[in-house]
Amino acid sequence: MLSHAAILLGFGLVLQTSAFGIQFTSPTTCCSLLGTEFNGESKVFSVTSTEYGSLNTYWTPAAQQTPTCIFTPADTQDVSRAVKLFTRKNCQFAIRSGGHSYNPGWAGIVNGVLISLSDIDDVTYDSGTGLASVGAGSRWTNVYEALLPYNVTVLGGRNSNLGVGGYLTGGGISFYANERGWAADNIHSVEIVLAGGKVITASRTQHSELFRCIKGGSNNYGVITKFVLETIDASNPFNGFAVDFPPTSTDSLLAGAYNYCTGGSDADPKSHIIFAAAITGNLPYRDVLLMSYNGVFDTASSSPAIRPFFDGTIPGPTVRYFASNGTIKQATDRLSVIQAPGTRYTMGTLSIYADLELFKTLRSIWQEETTSTLRAKSGFMTEFAFQPVGSKWLASSAARGGNSMGITRPFVVVWVQPRWDLAVDDAEMVAYTDRVISRCEQAAKTANKFSKFKYLNYGGRNQEIITHYGAPSVLRMQINKLRYDPLNVFGRLVPGGFKIPGF
Ligand SMILES: Cc1cc2nc3c(=O)[nH]c(=O)nc-3n(C[C@H](O)[C@H](O)[C@H](O)COP(=O)(O)OP(=O)(O)OC[C@H]3O[C@@H](n4cnc5c(N)ncnc54)[C@H](O)[C@@H]3O)c2cc1C
Repeated sequence: MLSHAAILLGFGLVLQTSAFGIQFTSPTTCCSLLGTEFNGESKVFSVTSTEYGSLNTYWTPAAQQTPTCIFTPADTQDVSRAVKLFTRKNCQFAIRSGGHSYNPGWAGIVNGVLISLSDIDDVTYDSGTGLASVGAGSRWTNVYEALLPYNVTVLGGRNSNLGVGGYLTGGGISFYANERGWAADNIHSVEIVLAGGKVITASRTQHSELFRCIKGGSNNYGVITKFVLETIDASNPFNGFAVDFPPTSTDSLLAGAYNYCTGGSDADPKSHIIFAAAITGNLPYRDVLLMSYNGVFDTASSSPAIRPFFDGTIPGPTVRYFASNGTIKQATDRLSVIQAPGTRYTMGTLSIYADLELFKTLRSIWQEETTSTLRAKSGFMTEFAFQPVGSKWLASSAARGGNSMGITRPFVVVWVQPRWDLAVDDAEMVAYTDRVISRCEQAAKTANKFSKFKYLNYGGRNQEIITHYGAPSVLRMQINKLRYDPLNVFGRLVPGGFKIPGF
């Protein structure tokens, strides 16, 4: 292992490299060089091309950028050739898989090249090994679809329109998380294009430290072009549904949530619950659970861990099924329609340790901050949600080698997510989100229930994420950054995304 001194020296070198300012090549020149490299292959699209508009789409228009050109590699070799060129010429670029990031510039760029991985979307299954090979530009709906005939599936998005690349490198919360941990921990191996264009495979046995860092490491180490994923049995039915409760049930619902967060998710790990509340315009808030069950399910014979959400203990449940004894694809496809692309959104997150009084306090903060002025904005809606990350989830992840997120004990992920219509309201919505998060964090600290961890895939544009993985994890990430990207290509040349401290 590298010593602290070596790391500090490494940081010095990295800083010098950027301070003595190897100049970035102009984006127009970079696009032109790329065009020459891929001449006649129809893979580089300028702003004036007819393809540019349809290639430059994001789940939320609030994250939309205007890259100088868009590059659509067909395979790993194409990515390697491009990254080699960008490294040599100091061209700035962005990496996009599904484009679901809420943050402008995370999977997009204004002056630079956008690598859109959407054509690297092959999905194959090897019944001998039980592994699925998935192109990094795939959407989960295609992955679920391809695996259905084999009665297997993988841990992927709860919204099937999400991209594979950002989701997995950010950690990945799937409907199977209570049984199998973070989706990233169910990766068997990755193919990754490093700075300079070198292609390697990382797994638990090859480049194992890098492999660990990638799980929660986002775009800091390279462009991942292929994920080989462990599969799970999908021969049993899968259920996805929402359960609505009237506002008069909020107190008992939060008490039920506390029980689920402090043992329920471990007692019945086939279940999965997000506790959400939503306010639309001037309407009163609504409590909605987003639930799933991996196996045969009916409300009448559900387990003690989840029965209170159906049997009247918490009054007034109304169940709406997305998939009733169906498949993961049905449930997640339905959610991708409910959470359709095209609307302005932002997001922010914090983590806490479960506490019933704190749940109530955080809900009140969210309601207080959701002022009548905000509610009057065109298309306004806001969601406040949380879910437990329990012992079984963490044990399952640890048993698969662990990740870079540095989590040491069960906790609760909390997030806030407003939606609105007009670009002119963007700044106000981001400020609102930051205010809710900041006040919630303060309340959690006061209650002595604050967890420093923040889930990368829910991180807001103004939030620090990787710093909060904790010192040992950050150190491991820094050491491997120096090993695999010593010139900090994926920091300097890829400006967007959550970066490793010091890079
Ligand atoms: C409607 C909605 C539902 C969601 N549901 C869930 C959920 O159920 N569970 C959950 O965990 N999260 C969820 N998220 C969050 C989601 O995981 C993140 O937005 C994630 O980044 C989406 O992946 P993507 O490939 O579409 O990301 P992109 O926006 O394409 O990329 C996100 C980041 O990852 C980097 N990146 C992408 N691909 C690669 C690659 N191949 N190599 C290196 N870096 C790469 C990009 O550079 C960028 O910084 C949801 C988001 C939305 C909008």
